[in-house]
Amino acid sequence: MTLLALLLLAAAAPAGSEGAALSRITAAEISGHLRFLSDDLLEGRRPGQPGDELATKYLAAQMEAFGLKPLGDNGTWFQAVPLIELRADVPRDVHFTAGGKDLTLHALGGNAADLIFEANAHIDRATLKDVPLVFAGYGITAPEYGWDDYKDADVKGKVVVVMNFNPPFKGQGVRLWYGRWDYKYINASRHGAVGALVIHTTPSAGYPWQVLANRADGSHQDLPPSDAEPRTMQFQGWITEAAAVRLAQQGQQDLDALRKAAGSRDFRVQPLGSTLSLDMAITRNQIRSANVVGILPGTDPRLSQEAVIYTAHHDHLGKGTPPPGTTDGIYNGALDNASGCATLLAIAHAATFAPPKRSVIFAFVTAEEQGLLGSRWLAEHPPIPAERIAADINLDVVNPWGRTTDVGVLGLGKSSADGVVRKVAASQGRTVHGDPFPDRGLFYRSDMFSLARVGVPPVSVKGGPSYVGRPQGWGAEQNVEYEHKRYHQPSDEYHGDWDLSGDVQDAQLQLAVGLGIANAPQMPKWTPGDEFEKARTQPRGEAAGGNR
Ligand SMILES: [Zn+2]
Repeated sequence: MTLLALLLLAAAAPAGSEGAALSRITAAEISGHLRFLSDDLLEGRRPGQPGDELATKYLAAQMEAFGLKPLGDNGTWFQAVPLIELRADVPRDVHFTAGGKDLTLHALGGNAADLIFEANAHIDRATLKDVPLVFAGYGITAPEYGWDDYKDADVKGKVVVVMNFNPPFKGQGVRLWYGRWDYKYINASRHGAVGALVIHTTPSAGYPWQVLANRADGSHQDLPPSDAEPRTMQFQGWITEAAAVRLAQQGQQDLDALRKAAGSRDFRVQPLGSTLSLDMAITRNQIRSANVVGILPGTDPRLSQEAVIYTAHHDHLGKGTPPPGTTDGIYNGALDNASGCATLLAIAHAATFAPPKRSVIFAFVTAEEQGLLGSRWLAEHPPIPAERIAADINLDVVNPWGRTTDVGVLGLGKSSADGVVRKVAASQGRTVHGDPFPDRGLFYRSDMFSLARVGVPPVSVKGGPSYVGRPQGWGAEQNVEYEHKRYHQPSDEYHGDWDLSGDVQDAQLQLAVGLGIANAPQMPKWTPGDEFEKARTQPRGEAAGGNR
């Protein structure tokens, strides 16, 4: 490092205890936690399995050692989350009939499967006899954008087949909550459908079919159903694009023409011409899992009643049959999200050296991979009232590729917390931009979405994609390679070989932003008109974001 660079660093370092706290964050501390949390011993940290329980005990032990206080149930570090595991006994062959002819598609078989089936309603058996299939376009009802694929169509007792993604409500290629598969199932349930299949394409999903198919075994986890999250269908699932084309052909339909029509707000639900029969037993089990929650009490008698919350999910996918070409079937989830937990532990440790006026809550949440379940439970049962939580700083998949000259902010423009982010990033000599991959819809796939729905403004920052000493485009290449080769696959492992210097940069930013918000006279405010603003100003459940 040159003398000039050293001088610049010294000039950028904040004064006093905050600067000292920031300098406590080291790559070695992050690497140590990361190595343990992503170890094969933890068997992929599936909620309800011993490996994930081990992870939660580790997180609690670390927080205790740092001097934080427990904020879970009954004075413990653990907030129990009542998860239910639904295991559908999926048939290998699923039969579709049209005009007396039979089309058999396969619902099991890893990458070679045509379909993925799971339970939706919490029932003992899914039974469908000659149920008609309809194509429901994007499957979206979005009055604020003047869009309703269902209109007055009666899909009660029918199976809907829908496209992934959403029309360009907020610009070409920008994915909203409406573009997420979980939304599509909820909306199909609301319209009385008995089943829903999302058509998979790699561009519209953001990941290849194998990401879903390799670990599809008919089981998934859920919270008890609620009005906001109805579960009334006999099944939910996915269909490959190739199989959807064949299914449409069987009923004398052209999938491409149907999809083209669905691009218009005048689109109407179309019969697909075939019917489906299904008989599938479902077993349900209560499983034990928990959010791990600690607090660094604030130093100001009044402001300490409010808090900044940090979240990172500790769960991953567990283990399964080893996919072809892999050595084990353990989904270590090193980047996703042992990395976020490890980094958050380092932040929590450092924060104890500069306790701010407001309290700081550290929540390691469960069952993110099952549909943001742990964070939803936390948001609906917050340790302090949601209106007293100033912001949620979420860590999910950190930057393992070195220092950057820029910072990407998911949900940039949503609240005045942006101002704090910009100030800290500038002090690091980094520029700020929005989500570099808006088509992925990461905001709505992250735990901060759960907190935003109860009115807590999000902060999600990550360095990149412009890397120090790397050519333009290199960062985006790394990201695509991760999505295709490691994301949700057993190859997401840690061997001590990542460049965590960029993660340290981000962790310092995340800590400085948290301290900045926790020491500010006022809590951040939502940008007027933001989709979640009402969740903060209106009673629970009435806000648009709160009950969609
Ligand atoms: Zn994940």
